[in-house]
Amino acid sequence: MVIATEHKVRAEGSRLKELDCEKCRARYGYVMERDASATATSGGKAAGWRAEDRALDALDNKLDTELDIIPCPRCGWVQADMVRWAKRTHWRGLRNAGIAVTAIAVLFGVPFRFAEQSISRPSDSAFPWTTFLLCAAIGPGLIILRLALAALHDPNSGSREALRALAEERAIPADELDEIHAEEEERKHGEKEPSLPLDEILRRQIRRWRRRGG
Ligand SMILES: [Zn+2]
Repeated sequence: MVIATEHKVRAEGSRLKELDCEKCRARYGYVMERDASATATSGGKAAGWRAEDRALDALDNKLDTELDIIPCPRCGWVQADMVRWAKRTHWRGLRNAGIAVTAIAVLFGVPFRFAEQSISRPSDSAFPWTTFLLCAAIGPGLIILRLALAALHDPNSGSREALRALAEERAIPADELDEIHAEEEERKHGEKEPSLPLDEILRRQIRRWRRRGG
């Protein structure tokens, strides 16, 4: 008898992102941290490796495509791609809630359509009108509200002090970036440490948790 076990893997990683400020041309960077989880269910060890591969792929995708909102340490400007990312992620929960409520309206609406076409049409009171109408109004309403909130959201219109504080906390100025790269070069040419790109060095921080169910 094969007992199915669930393999759950969570991968954590970080990546150094570097850029030039589009406002004052200052070079700066920041370390972005992300985590990703994956599960695979089946008997055997392969599922564990599959879950680990999926978690690492999802983590890589996040590290490649996502951004943190880190203003320039010199002038406090939030870059255009960060603003776009902030708009994309602003109130995302509201959009998901809107989609879920709209789906409920559709689920209520579809059987009603069939009921209307059939000869033995149920009485109006049998149909949960209130729920249907509420969901049909609230669901798209939430999606529109979220679009409006995202359109109005602009990190650069926020308080300059807050942006500078954030930059002070997270931004890595150009001279420190040079130090990091010099260390990386030393490691590359060192005899004890194997040659590893910086991403790999940062990826050493990855911690994995495996939990075998059953
Ligand atoms: Zn700047």
